[in-house]
Amino acid sequence: MKKLKVLIVDDSSVMRKIVERALRQAGLELTEVLEASNGAEALVQVQKGSLDMILSDINMPVMDGLEFLKNLSTIESARNIPVVMITTEGSEARVVEALSAGAKGYLRKPFTPEQVKERVTPLLGGSL
Ligand SMILES: [Mg+2]
Repeated sequence: MKKLKVLIVDDSSVMRKIVERALRQAGLELTEVLEASNGAEALVQVQKGSLDMILSDINMPVMDGLEFLKNLSTIESARNIPVVMITTEGSEARVVEALSAGAKGYLRKPFTPEQVKERVTPLLGGSL
């Protein structure tokens, strides 16, 4: 299995850890986990390059997940990185918006490692 470098974006540090743990429990082998607490910080991390996947919250201060997606699509080297949105109940409209802005999937909190496996591993395609 390929070792993965992922970026987890959420304004809650507890949620970032929960996402990381769920990815590991889903069987993904993470070599590097970068974190950001909003879209602006995430864009800085993206510039460092070579990410296999990004998981991003939608509701965040400074720059939310939708604004982050829009900015991400303007970065040539980042266009092929799959982005999975992490959502809460009631944010269906924003999920639809995120999917049309280029997100490849979403996970609704609270999620199980099985759901993570189901939604995330197919996006890694040939890299597993
Ligand atoms: Mg949030």
